Amino acid sequence: LTGEAITAAQIDTLSAHFPLCMKNLHSAVRRDKHLRHFGRLQYGLFLKALGLSIDEALLFWRTAFSKFTDEQFNKEYRYNIRHSYGLQGAGRNYKPLSCQQILMDHPPGSGDNHGCPYRHFSFENLTVAMGRLLGVEERGVVMGVKMDVEAKKYHLACNRVFEHLHEKELKKKEGGARETITHPNEYFDRSWGLKN
Ligand code: SF4
Repeated sequence: LTGEAITAAQIDTLSAHFPLCMKNLHSAVRRDKHLRHFGRLQYGLFLKALGLSIDEALLFWRTAFSKFTDEQFNKEYRYNIRHSYGLQGAGRNYKPLSCQQILMDHPPGSGDNHGCPYRHFSFENLTVAMGRLLGVEERGVVMGVKMDVEAKKYHLACNRVFEHLHEKELKKKEGGARETITHPNEYFDRSWGLKN
């Protein structure tokens, strides 16, 4: 899929390949019909790097933010979305955030949905999120994640979950040699590549 264009209508289906941070943002925007600034930034740049064009991005966010009128949407959000595509303001082409940036910059406060669940959720909430959003409930995996999180090795917890979810395909296709994922878009690309 890398390098190809994706449409707003494909996002629900493609979310099967999202890491937990992006699954959480996707689920939050569907539930709340809204995301706060850093959530929109983290998720929007991830989707842009997946190949979502500016027109499709405007369509996605407009449809997702269904509780707002067109006037409110155009006033509050349109500029920001265009800005993240380098079409307003200084015209900077923003890159998608890496795990390091998500882990370290702008920790989420209450009411925020951005950040890395492995780092920013309590273990109880993380366990619920892994079950609900990824279908990961096996005790061995959950305990492994607990160990990683307690050692502050958040990206290792994410990789552990990735390897669990792609166990069969990894054995078949990648023959054991594994690289550690350090970027949400890399997580998506590898997941997509393994399943397709
Ligand atoms: Fe997202 Fe990276 Fe955290 Fe995984 S480790 S959930 S990809 S920020």
